Amino acid sequence: MTSITNDLLYDELFIAGEWCPSVSGRRIPILNPATGETIAEVAYGGRDDTRMALDRAAEALPAWARLTAVERARFLRRWYDLILSHIDELAAILTAEQGKPIREARAEIAYGAQFIEWFAEEGKRAYGEIIPTNLPGRRLLTIKQPVGVTAAVTPWNFPMAMIARKVGPAMAAGCPMVIKPASETPLSALALAGLAVQAGVPEGVLSVIPGPGSEVGDELATNKTVKAISFTGSTEVGKRLMAQAAGTVKKVALELGGNAPILVFDDADLDTAVDGVMASKFRNAGQTCVCANRIYVQDGIYEDFISKFNAAVQSMTVGDGLDADTDQGPLINDEAVAKVEHHIADAVSRGATVTTGGGRHGLGGTYFEPTVIVGATSEMAVAQEETFGPLAAVFRFKTEAEGIAQANDTPFGLAAYFFTRDLARAWRVGEGLEYGVVAVNTGSFSYEGAPFGGVKESGVGREGSAHGIEEFLDIKYMCIDGLETE
Ligand code: NAP
Repeated sequence: MTSITNDLLYDELFIAGEWCPSVSGRRIPILNPATGETIAEVAYGGRDDTRMALDRAAEALPAWARLTAVERARFLRRWYDLILSHIDELAAILTAEQGKPIREARAEIAYGAQFIEWFAEEGKRAYGEIIPTNLPGRRLLTIKQPVGVTAAVTPWNFPMAMIARKVGPAMAAGCPMVIKPASETPLSALALAGLAVQAGVPEGVLSVIPGPGSEVGDELATNKTVKAISFTGSTEVGKRLMAQAAGTVKKVALELGGNAPILVFDDADLDTAVDGVMASKFRNAGQTCVCANRIYVQDGIYEDFISKFNAAVQSMTVGDGLDADTDQGPLINDEAVAKVEHHIADAVSRGATVTTGGGRHGLGGTYFEPTVIVGATSEMAVAQEETFGPLAAVFRFKTEAEGIAQANDTPFGLAAYFFTRDLARAWRVGEGLEYGVVAVNTGSFSYEGAPFGGVKESGVGREGSAHGIEEFLDIKYMCIDGLETE
């Protein structure tokens, strides 16, 4: 077991202000993917623990919902300040359990914290409306109220930010939340809970239950106490949760898998395009839902792009995320490595060529070489499913219409990118892409004030922006009669 000295390293479940072992006594080792060593043995909850947390959340609901948005914002603001003042400790935990470079971990903490600050303020603007009446003596209005107890189920690739994007708006709206973090990365979630205690967040408003998806996640999706469930993860599990949530007609917000295309048009600025593709493809070793998975390059710029892009990928430094020089850390586990290997082997067997990398890295473990393949085509596995790893597959296309058609040829619709200097093309292509987010001339678009979410099988609902809080609010229509004047 490696010891990391960190005041925010917790290894118990967090239920309504208490740190406690699981009812079953079960624990799970949390591994550092950079070294394979155990960082902590964390209590691993089940259905009983989850029900307990939900009961405590239901008890906390009336008082939390009754507070004014201004009062709730004060708790959230204190929490936000504490997160930022502990960014080093939080980043060290995040990199240790997830593997990403430490500067990316710090960026994730800062990004996640912004959602808590943003929604603290946005809660104050959850306006209702006055509706012009249809009858004299009658007045019509709407108010927005918290949906009740809520739940979050989150993935391992952004162990902090995916939670902050959900808990910020839920708490701001007046909803307690029970969180199930991914089993690989519960430590960041527990550290956040530790800071919530310091911020004075009332007992029961927030609970964190590490545990298997099939037990804790399943309970959250089916328990009638939960009125809204917000999930980020694979499309497969998202579909299952959506079906389960139907049993009690919960509100459902789903941020699911992507298979992001990037189009580089002939008229693009080459350096901007290469920088953008690098930023989108290799962040978090390619383990993000908005990672460029299919890179379509138009004929006229193809050769120049390939040569600059390969050079950029070859200059990357692979290593332990804790080393300041590291551009790419290890992958999360062996399964992730196997998927990248499969996509490369499949593509090569169908005629693609590896131009950079192509195999496991000399550092061993789950380290993988940043890889480029060219000559990718639509029947390859890499075109049809997200790789979730450091494999950049380059396709070639001729016309704008062909590029758009290929980009849309997927059941997914989370994020798409393209590079062009032609304003008319920017509008045409932007409107033609069937995606929830379209980024033009950049590889990074994240901002808490903008709506994030997918269409098609990439999800329902939006996180961030004024829309994000709506997932946790009900609209109540009030019709007040008997107001006749003399
Ligand atoms: P995953 O396997 O779907 O797991 C996500 C969460 O669901 C984990 O907490 C997992 O718990 C839980 N879970 C698994 N099986 C469950 C079940 N039967 N019932 C309830 N919960 C269950 O996804 P992942 O591998 O962690 O994450 C990668 C995926 O997330 C990718 O597809 C990626 O594109 C997507 N993602 C999407 C976004 C977005 O915003 N759209 C952001 C990040 C990632 P355990 O850990 O205990 O299995």
